[in-house]
Amino acid sequence: MSEDLTAEKLHREAVVVDAHCDTVRLFNGIHKSSHFGQRNEVGHLDLPRLREGGVKIQFFALYVEPEYKTCAALRRAPTLMEHFLQEMGKHAESVTVIKSWHELELALTKGSLGAILALEGAEALESVEILHILYRLGLRSVGLTWNERDMLADGVGAGVNPGGLTSLGREMVREMNRLGILVDAAHLAPRGFCELLTESSLPIVVTHANAAGVCSHKRNLSDEQLRLLRDNDGVVGLTYYPPFVANSVTCSIEALLDHFCYIADRFGVGILGLGSDYDGISTVVTGLDDVSRLPILTEALLRRGFSSKEVKQILGENFLRVIKKNMEPGGR
Ligand SMILES: [Zn+2]
Repeated sequence: MSEDLTAEKLHREAVVVDAHCDTVRLFNGIHKSSHFGQRNEVGHLDLPRLREGGVKIQFFALYVEPEYKTCAALRRAPTLMEHFLQEMGKHAESVTVIKSWHELELALTKGSLGAILALEGAEALESVEILHILYRLGLRSVGLTWNERDMLADGVGAGVNPGGLTSLGREMVREMNRLGILVDAAHLAPRGFCELLTESSLPIVVTHANAAGVCSHKRNLSDEQLRLLRDNDGVVGLTYYPPFVANSVTCSIEALLDHFCYIADRFGVGILGLGSDYDGISTVVTGLDDVSRLPILTEALLRRGFSSKEVKQILGENFLRVIKKNMEPGGR
């Protein structure tokens, strides 16, 4: 009983950061209502359930659907961005769209949810100028690819032997470093991953992936990639999607914990974070059915021998370290 109380208290004290959700696809845009402000059974995540789950910083990814790729990506991405901004605007008293480290600190002090706007795949990024415009509108994290090839790099599903970064990709990475946009290597093919870690002058993020050493899947990170990520001082958000956890349709929370332990044992606790992929996945780890259930992850981490300090690092401090490095003036 006392152990449960400790876990609950620890979870409430922690700055919980979730680096990936696809909830923006559920926002309906201008003049249409959505369920984000009320607790509901739709999807995995809404404001009341984020609060119940103790999440303080949530990344919201914009995913350009296949029917818009690639010709209409530059129309679709800003449309989704507007849906996101409209929705956050409706709840401005309890949500802050984070554009700087200072704003993130203020949001935490105020107790409002910090929302970080992210792009999953760079089909819309046709030029550095477009990157700048989207930055002005609040974009602070960019996944260089989804599974396929785009103008910046190859994703993990781009043919049998995917390539690395394009020259535009390298230029964009340098520009993101300069602006303070997080560079996200989730979905990026291994060759591009290595090249990115040479090109980026700042720690990168992998917002949603797991360890290939536990579950062999092309979306998961090999030991070599995890070593490079550690050397870069970056962070990976582990996802709750059973095919990436255990190559199955369902799996237990212990199977997810195997990934945390595997990475911590070999590469240290400092690269671990959370990247649920809520609202982007059809099945989830049993017990983590929606974001409100997140405190059970803290209990499970403690049960598997992580210290309170390590649990806080995993829940969010590691991501905060990388966000600060990227977003704080002088951090770069
Ligand atoms: Zn994804």
